[in-house]
Amino acid sequence: MDIRNCKRCNRLFQYNGIKYCPKCVLELDEMFIKVRDYLYENKNANIAEVSEATGVEEKVILEFLRDGRLELREPSLDLTCERCDKPITSGRMCKDCLALFERIMKKDINESARTVENLKRDAGRVHLVDYIRKKQD
Ligand SMILES: [Zn+2]
Ligand SMILES: [Zn+2]
Repeated sequence: MDIRNCKRCNRLFQYNGIKYCPKCVLELDEMFIKVRDYLYENKNANIAEVSEATGVEEKVILEFLRDGRLELREPSLDLTCERCDKPITSGRMCKDCLALFERIMKKDINESARTVENLKRDAGRVHLVDYIRKKQD
C-alpha cells in the first residue's frame, strides 16, 4: 500500500495517482467549479479579482491554470511561461517553448528509435554469423 502526504493539507492518505487526499480533492473540485463559473461570467477578471470574489486562494487558482483545467481569456502576467516568462493563458509554457520542447522530445524519440533499429540490425548480424558458423560445422 502506498501511503503519502497530501500536497495540500499534509494529511496521510492512500495514494492512488492523485497528489491530494480525497477530502482535498472534493474541496478543490468545489473551488474549481466556483472559479470556473466566475471566470465564465467575468472573462476579463485577473487572478486577484477571481480570488477575492470566490474566496479561493490565488495559488489554488494558479494551479488550476498550470494544470490546464482553466484558461484565461488573455495572456496574463499572473501566469507566465516557466521557460521564457512570457505571459500565457494556461499550462506551463508558451506556445513557442512548447513547440520547441515537443521538437526536442520528438528528436529524442527518433534517436532512440534509431538506436533500437541499430540494435536490431546488430542482433540480426549476430544471428547470421551464428548461422554461417553452424553451417560450417
Ligand atoms: Zn488533503
Ligand atoms: Zn516560453
